[in-house]
Amino acid sequence: MSFKPANNIQDLQYFGEFGGVNPSISDSSTYTFLSAKTMFDTFEGNADGCYLYSRHSSPSNLYLGEALAAMEVTETANVTSSGMGAITSVILQLCSAGDHVISSRTIYGGTYAFLKNFTPKLKIETSFVDITNLETVEASITKDTKIIYCESVSNPLLEIADIKGLSDIAKRHNLKLVVDNTFSPLSISPTVLGADVVIHSLTKFINGSSDTVGGVVCGTQEFINELRNVNDGASMLLGVTMDSLRAASVLKNLRTLHIRMQQHSKNALYLAEKFEADGLKTVYPGLESHPSHDLFRKMMNTEYGFGGLLTIDVGSLELANELMEMMQERNLGYLAVSLGFYKTLFSAPGTSTSSEIPEEEQYEMGLTDGLIRFSIGLDADIERTYKTMKSCMTELGVLMPKKETQLA
Ligand SMILES: *Cc1c(COP(=O)(O)O)cnc(C)c1O
Repeated sequence: MSFKPANNIQDLQYFGEFGGVNPSISDSSTYTFLSAKTMFDTFEGNADGCYLYSRHSSPSNLYLGEALAAMEVTETANVTSSGMGAITSVILQLCSAGDHVISSRTIYGGTYAFLKNFTPKLKIETSFVDITNLETVEASITKDTKIIYCESVSNPLLEIADIKGLSDIAKRHNLKLVVDNTFSPLSISPTVLGADVVIHSLTKFINGSSDTVGGVVCGTQEFINELRNVNDGASMLLGVTMDSLRAASVLKNLRTLHIRMQQHSKNALYLAEKFEADGLKTVYPGLESHPSHDLFRKMMNTEYGFGGLLTIDVGSLELANELMEMMQERNLGYLAVSLGFYKTLFSAPGTSTSSEIPEEEQYEMGLTDGLIRFSIGLDADIERTYKTMKSCMTELGVLMPKKETQLA
């Protein structure tokens, strides 16, 4: 594909109020008016370019929103205080009591918990399905269904959603396709493939410095206006507002996202190929052994690669924990949840980020005890990283040294 979403960010041009190359930060919660009439019009949403109160909107947040909308090829976007703030407000905006959601069963633990435990209190029910099976998805639609919800690359199993196929189903049944694209910014452009709403946790790759949480909803002007409506907008009324200072700092980090994604992807592909060749059970969309490798290839914006996430299965939780502790001791990364940092981060999802999912369900979806999720860092010398990782694995018996196996 020749489409280059990073250009859409790079080509934006806005100056600070003193001509600074960065837009000035709007460090105010409220705004003055010369005339009372303009204040009224602004409150009603009829005074373009005027600001009233920073929970509604603020210049810094709008700049960041515009840049993210450009990246995701949507008309506009609304930044939020966290990824969960984006996800929960989108679902609550699109669904009322009695409505039904079809969701991938392999999704972020917080999203799963929200749909499984929280929205039923509001009489919104969810069917969790194998999103890679389009027939199952379509068969799960009821007369009350409003949303198909998925992650382009799922957490933590790295399943790939066929966004085009899901979008065809959504359009046939007049549903909204909502895609969480947190794992694959730039690599996959869901709206180009037919998604209606794209969500990111900015906390991860997009901000990339693990110093804040943040989120965004990218969509049509009409939908974003609904989210921000003072009378019944979920973002507005739930108050999931990002702080302006943060919006300004996330915008600055966003500008290097394309370079970071290329390096994350390059390093992850290198390690995945090595691990697989060493006989480790490795899951990475860039490997031909990945069941949706061809699908990812078809959907991707090639230059950003297959992303920075990979998993290996070392057989048991004990071994996974020992390996992670040893890798941290040897400065290969941090035993931490989250992703998209310059350092490699690793965790065992079954006992951390996906612990909201009951054990039987984890088992059913293939989330095993020995699974380690890696968010591969920006290491300048990935060959050295690999060699050190390999020596940890050999010492712990995760990998058998080739010669000794032959002797034995
Ligand atoms: C982290 C994450 C979220 C939640 O984002 P927060 O910023 O932590 O609220 C949602 N979806 C995915 C795929 C994530 O990785």
